[in-house]
Amino acid sequence: MARLSDAFIDDLLARTDIVEVIGARVPLKRQGREYSARCPFHDERSPSFTVSPTKQFYHCFGCGAHGTAISFLMNFDRLEFLDAVDELARRAGIEVPRETRQHNENPDTRDMFGVLDEAARFYRAALVPGTEADDYLSRRGLDGAIREQFGIGYAPGGFSALKDALGSDPRRVSLLERTGMLSKNDRGHVYDKFRDRVMFPIHDRRGRVIAFGGRVLKPEDSPKYLNSPETPLFHKGRELYGLWQVRQANQKIARLVVVEGYMDVVALFQHGISQAVATLGTATTPDHAELLFRNAPDVYFCFDGDAAGRRAAARAMESVLPRMKDGRQAFFLFLPDGEDPDTIVRNEGAPGFEARLAQATPLSQFLFDHLAEDGINLATLDGKARLAERAKPMLAQLPDGAFADLMQQRLTELTGVGARSAPPEVHVPAARARRAPAGNAPKRSLVRSAITLLLQKPQLALELQPPYRFVALRQPGIDLLTELVAIVSARPDIGTGAVLAHFEGRQEADALHKLAAIDLPGDEAGWAREFSDAIAQLDRQTLQQRVDELLAKQREEGLDATDKAELRELLQARGARAGG
Ligand SMILES: [Zn+2]
Repeated sequence: MARLSDAFIDDLLARTDIVEVIGARVPLKRQGREYSARCPFHDERSPSFTVSPTKQFYHCFGCGAHGTAISFLMNFDRLEFLDAVDELARRAGIEVPRETRQHNENPDTRDMFGVLDEAARFYRAALVPGTEADDYLSRRGLDGAIREQFGIGYAPGGFSALKDALGSDPRRVSLLERTGMLSKNDRGHVYDKFRDRVMFPIHDRRGRVIAFGGRVLKPEDSPKYLNSPETPLFHKGRELYGLWQVRQANQKIARLVVVEGYMDVVALFQHGISQAVATLGTATTPDHAELLFRNAPDVYFCFDGDAAGRRAAARAMESVLPRMKDGRQAFFLFLPDGEDPDTIVRNEGAPGFEARLAQATPLSQFLFDHLAEDGINLATLDGKARLAERAKPMLAQLPDGAFADLMQQRLTELTGVGARSAPPEVHVPAARARRAPAGNAPKRSLVRSAITLLLQKPQLALELQPPYRFVALRQPGIDLLTELVAIVSARPDIGTGAVLAHFEGRQEADALHKLAAIDLPGDEAGWAREFSDAIAQLDRQTLQQRVDELLAKQREEGLDATDKAELRELLQARGARAGG
């Protein structure tokens, strides 16, 4: 992806009125300093979605959706990052830096897209009525409209049909090679990678062809499915076959059904189930899981009922666990032996397949079933302990929220043992978050209070004078506070949304966005005072920490001259501070 400087993004967000951007798409109601609405990312009756013009971010207390104007456009309008930036820049009348645009229009990339598009057209043209490939697709019940929707074609037999048609000069042969369309033998001879196969173009999120999958016509040929290799345009661990078509076919995607093959996706579409996607010959990766949930709140994974299918399901589960924010659901459907979604939807129709989906196993149940496999006997204490032991690392991956709590509860029911040793450090239940007091907090949450203020008013950090004494303090959260101060010093225009984006994907992200969403009482002057008081107290604690260290050393081994000088200085400073 092209890189835009942080400074550019900060400036763009600072000049964007997030209320205007979101208000144009969702009816907003003013409430004090913020605006509220019914969340566009999950179904709800009462509004728990808020937009803050001062913090430049939105946050949903129901499903946890949050982000900047950029991420809102990415999620709501389903734009790519750069397209969202373009859109906001246009509104704000800002130029997107030229090097970025050039990067996008990289002539090499453009030529690769070009040659893949030509290849797709070549394959489509080769799929003529009356041929074996045409017969095959007709037997599978795929009509002309669905073939066109998916751009299905045919790669002729022989070794050089595509190369002869498109490789008119060495530069174009090299383009075909780099896009994975040609193979090379030991003697350096170059020939068509896909031969005598039904061809399924794989599209990126903008509908451009980035690769192909080919399926054999005769059952005795192998491999049954052949994919393009990884190329600069195609990373199979990050792409989902059919997602482009799903987006075209659905205004709002309520669910996605993940299947194994192209034929499964296309057959489901043919029968009116237009939310099917396939991974491309790989297990479900964390990137896939993220992509799936970014597009739909409910995800159904279909697997073969055999041992291999169970293993694939376990891997998919591991990829989705860290992404199970509230409002998201995952289900696992195991198909009878020898069946796949293609055969089922052809034999039973859409209602039959839907009925099976309705019976799919929810993640919560699948996880405990999976953990209790290979002979754990829950009737025994030992069995319970072993289940608890296995569940711990899995449940620890769940983001904080109602789902994690429920899973925790379930584990306790099953075993009588809690998996989380301590409650998460920052846990603000949604209902209480709005009026959680940040002021007059007990001593232990000084750091938390400073972090909260800094998240909400990042520019407070600019008032601090180095050296920052508090960074040496040994307390939970100090590293985070230090990092926040460093970010704001480096990016003085940064807003809350961009600060949160910086932590995206990290363990602290959820806790931070909860703190950022707290509605602080008081006004700016009060916050500034509270922040500098908190930092001053932390500085004092740091000083005391060092004094205690030196005093301990004095007792144990005595102090040298430098130590003594330092101690004197510290005691003086402490006296001065206490007096002033
Ligand atoms: Zn929501």
